[in-house]
Amino acid sequence: MIHTPAFLDTHRPDVPDLVVPQGVTPFYLAGRPVRGRLVRVGALADALLTRHDHPDIVLRLAGEALALVGGLASALKFQGSFSVQARGDGPVSSLVADCTHAGALRFHARSDAARIAELAATDPDVDAGRLLGAGYLAFTVDQGPDTDIHQGIVEIQGASLSDMAAHYFQTSEQHACWIRLACVHTDAGWRASALLLERIATEGGIAAEHAPAGDEDDSWTTAVTLAETVTDAELTDETLPPEDLLYRLFHAEDVCADRPRALAFGCRCSRARLSGILETFSTDDLDHMTEGGTISMSCEFCNICFRFPRAEIGGA
Ligand SMILES: [Zn+2]
Repeated sequence: MIHTPAFLDTHRPDVPDLVVPQGVTPFYLAGRPVRGRLVRVGALADALLTRHDHPDIVLRLAGEALALVGGLASALKFQGSFSVQARGDGPVSSLVADCTHAGALRFHARSDAARIAELAATDPDVDAGRLLGAGYLAFTVDQGPDTDIHQGIVEIQGASLSDMAAHYFQTSEQHACWIRLACVHTDAGWRASALLLERIATEGGIAAEHAPAGDEDDSWTTAVTLAETVTDAELTDETLPPEDLLYRLFHAEDVCADRPRALAFGCRCSRARLSGILETFSTDDLDHMTEGGTISMSCEFCNICFRFPRAEIGGA
């Protein structure tokens, strides 16, 4: 039914051919300086998260990161990708999630299960701030080989990934935004969602022409107050269609939904890329990695294992 896009066709074993057609529902509040995105990663969250062996608390954080980048990438105006990367001294030393303009999502994380078990023993609801520890959060927009990479970096600040991301937009992008992320394990598996609001300039718009500036502040504050009422259960409830949830939250504010955008299983690994990495290893290291004449290497994003005959890899 759904064909593998060309950028996924890279001579490797099949990855789940999973597309969520209404992954991201962009919306705006008519005449107000507010636009937003409702992200439902749906069954794709489960497919992505369960390919990795991490404690649930790490998968929950990764699911939130997937929903966040899914929403942020939908604003890309050109081909490219949007990534969020966290590195810290906590038991989750690294977390990367990225999404292309076409909605191809992937992530990987490094976690120390023993340290997490230790933390969880004293606090079962250990938050993202403690999982990541002291470190930084980087947001990167990469729009292809002939363009400048746009990257913003902030210190990790806040208890949740939502707080950390909002802190980033307020400090680095000088941009008022409100973010709620949710990832829960349901009877159907992992589900991850996001609700993002951003304040936009309305120069030339109806609101700017006819309304004093104070009204725009009020409109933004009202939108945030309404958004704050959303629950994790509503965000991840697949029986509640995105438009219905948006109407429930913002019906008094003339909410209008735009054309939805798809999210899909989207690793971009290939044999060529992994063999290129292997060729940077020394011949000694490569020999150590060889078993029965074969070197096995798994993609850190999709966990698919690629096998290379030792004779095929040159070594540095
Ligand atoms: Zn991969």
